[in-house]
Amino acid sequence: MSICPICGSEVAPRSANKAFPFCTARCKSIDLGKWLNEEYRVPATPDEAGEGDESEDAPAVASEGDFPGKPDMRH
Ligand SMILES: [Zn+2]
Repeated sequence: MSICPICGSEVAPRSANKAFPFCTARCKSIDLGKWLNEEYRVPATPDEAGEGDESEDAPAVASEGDFPGKPDMRH
């Protein structure tokens, strides 16, 4: 007989227990939540790669001279 790692209760055999190796689906979800929390606790990877590089390639106001309807500002 197995023991539920969450609550320590006896666990029914796999053939009769969809939540195996946990005693109930509730304990199974608790374990899943623990894993998810572990992942969330890990600090997000800082965006070191490509920081600022993408914006540099973005077209700035360099196309100003190509504007077809550019008014003649000379006075
Ligand atoms: Zn349990």
